[in-house]
Amino acid sequence: MKAILKDKQEPGLAYGEHPVRDLKPHEVLLQVYTAAICGTDILIYHWHPLIRDFIKDPPFIPGHECGAVIAELGSEVRGFSVGDRVAVETHLPCGKCYQCHTGEQHICRDMVLFGHNFNGCFAEFTVVPQQILFKIDDALSLERAALLEPMGASFQGVEKAQVAGDSVAVIGAGPIGLFAIYLARKMGAARVIAIDINSFRLDLARELGADTVFDPQQSNVAEEILALTDGDGVGRIIDAAGANEPLSDSFSYLRKGGRLILVGNPKQDLVIKNPMVSLVQKEITIKGVHGRRMFDTWEKTQNFLLDKTLPLELFVSHEFAMTDYDKAFAEIDSGRTSKVMLRNKHE
Ligand SMILES: [Zn+2]
Ligand SMILES: [Zn+2]
Repeated sequence: MKAILKDKQEPGLAYGEHPVRDLKPHEVLLQVYTAAICGTDILIYHWHPLIRDFIKDPPFIPGHECGAVIAELGSEVRGFSVGDRVAVETHLPCGKCYQCHTGEQHICRDMVLFGHNFNGCFAEFTVVPQQILFKIDDALSLERAALLEPMGASFQGVEKAQVAGDSVAVIGAGPIGLFAIYLARKMGAARVIAIDINSFRLDLARELGADTVFDPQQSNVAEEILALTDGDGVGRIIDAAGANEPLSDSFSYLRKGGRLILVGNPKQDLVIKNPMVSLVQKEITIKGVHGRRMFDTWEKTQNFLLDKTLPLELFVSHEFAMTDYDKAFAEIDSGRTSKVMLRNKHE
């Protein structure tokens, strides 16, 4: 089969022939139709220092957000058939640890990651254990199916934030932030504020339901938000950026008793400026969110993706053939993209 390979410990990827390996009893072979590019794929492409500790040594096939069809079943696979349309959970749990036994397998102590520690979906075919397959609704396109994984992380963030009737600020308007803005609106937030330094993305944020957008390079976000909220601050903050400065800043405009949800993976060592006064005296709740609960987050997220009014064209700004991956990553680097999709085949 043809595949995109991280072949060397340096920036860039390679395209070429790669063997399809034999299936183990509980694995399936998937034919990949669509694969979305995630933030970690961008780090893998550029061979960013942050990624090197938690991925397999090259060569390997990256990519983990896909819409695919089952092409072959391992001898022990039950409950799935050839031709089933599926998406794939990135977190492969061990099934044995404390978290796996207590309903938290998505944060398994020994989890390995699809497209990071074993071969992913930037290829014509991919082999995955049945444990991480999610059979999609007949009415869901394979393009939308590739969004279940990233949108699921945003869904869990918005769900944990408990936004109904409250004011919400979303830090970072990349794909995860944009999903969070849309979902916060759909899940009943009274006011949604988007914060980013990229004007293209702030425009998308507005179109997806943000009432107000701020660029911290152009205005004092804390002052503006306090002015908007009568000095109280926002009740909920969802961080989809993982950057120190906006996160430090956010403590000053989070309302007393408010909730801060961390979805974005930190881009550097997280150092929050003097948060103790805010943490203790404001009785703030901070909650991290890593991926999706298996599989209740998936079922709920799918219901939002099945909604015909979902503006897919805002969430997926570009689509490229798998062979044009260099163009896709160059487009992402331009800063004028939301989600970028790679495609092998049309349904
Ligand atoms: Zn992802
Ligand atoms: Zn486990």
